[in-house]
Amino acid sequence: MSNAASSTGRPLLQVRNLVREYPAGGEPVAVLKNIDLDVYAGEMLAIIGASGSGKSTLMNILGCLDTPTRGSYLVDGKETREMEPDELARLRREHFGFIFQRYHLMGDLTAVGNVEIPAIYAGVPTQQRRERAIALLQRLGLGERLHHTPGQLSGGQQQRVSIARALSNGGAVILADEPTGALDKASGLEVMNILKELHADGHTIIIVTHDPQVASNAQRVIELSDGEIIRDTRTGGAFVANKALSASPVAKGGEFAAAIGRMREAFAMAVRAMVAHKLRTLLTMLGIIIGIASVVSVVALGEGSRQKILADISGLGTNTIDIRSGTGFGDRTASRIRTLKPQDADALQKLNYIDSVSPGVQTARTVRKGNVEKTANINGVGEQYFRAMGYDIAKGVAFDLDSVRRQQQDAVIDPNT
Ligand code: ADP
Ligand code: MG
Repeated sequence: MSNAASSTGRPLLQVRNLVREYPAGGEPVAVLKNIDLDVYAGEMLAIIGASGSGKSTLMNILGCLDTPTRGSYLVDGKETREMEPDELARLRREHFGFIFQRYHLMGDLTAVGNVEIPAIYAGVPTQQRRERAIALLQRLGLGERLHHTPGQLSGGQQQRVSIARALSNGGAVILADEPTGALDKASGLEVMNILKELHADGHTIIIVTHDPQVASNAQRVIELSDGEIIRDTRTGGAFVANKALSASPVAKGGEFAAAIGRMREAFAMAVRAMVAHKLRTLLTMLGIIIGIASVVSVVALGEGSRQKILADISGLGTNTIDIRSGTGFGDRTASRIRTLKPQDADALQKLNYIDSVSPGVQTARTVRKGNVEKTANINGVGEQYFRAMGYDIAKGVAFDLDSVRRQQQDAVIDPNT
């Protein structure tokens, strides 16, 4: 398909009068000003411009990681500003694949584990997504490194893992923000060659770069300056056949089962990650639970992204998170793991977006009254437990911090007991 022919069809991505402002003390500052942009399926385009010109901001909006302050953004003819957060998240995970300068891989997961993440959110069954992850890694020349963690891989190899991850759900549109920025020359070339191959395969590729050499690989170069497009040049080179958005290999149907599976997998991974590090991983973990896309905003950790994460958590219908030892539900060694400490709860408590935290230990014991014996679950908790769980005390008073300090043996029993 030629350039001219494509341009007459409907653009895959269509941006109109887009403005993105950030609050800055008094007057909001416009970081993107009246952007108009059409991207056609199968194009490979580079967005260039000086540091701070708005490249990443535009990229994040194109990938539905961020929303415009004003103006319109249509994906495949659908207006994104009318979409509910769930709908946006689905659009993101089914059609977009992200590649970042610093790879953003989960340090505690293997290459296969990292590539599987997006497919978990799409509800792809375990066996199927593992096979796909392995196939993608093999295709990217990492067949010998399937079970290595990022720390055991070179920068170029890590970036290839992240490309495989971007393809996990199909990656009809690949968004790459300075994908070669952290790589040596040879690895950078390798990554560019992979992106060119994907383009030849029909993927739409958008690369943000400040490197003219990298940009020269694209058929179309868009230059941003101070939040405005000052140039949009096509350097010829026909672009390859359409890969429509519907080309996503993601399994449809079984929404509920998928949601349950997603939560379980996300939780298991979160715990694994949590045990290894604390705060940083906790934040990443929240991202994992919410969806891979949010990891991005967590890494940036601006005020805006933090608000977004909180909104995403509320959107899940829960604002309470359980953190447990072990590799997941049913880990028999969990009770012997001693790395999760009461002090971790204190550290969490200091974060200003956490309302209440309670450490917890649990055991089952026989309780007896007269000649009646029953097995009861006994939970040792902190004084904020009732608030965290949203429990009201029906009768009497709950214990307080003072009771905890003095290690008083206060008991709160439920009606069955
Ligand atoms: P580029 O990727 O081209 O280097 P960015 O899109 O990251 O530029 O940033 C463009 C401008 O927007 C910069 O001046 C930056 O300081 C500002 N900016 C980016 N993110 C935020 C934010 N969360 N809050 C306030 N200003 C921001
Ligand atoms: Mg940037």
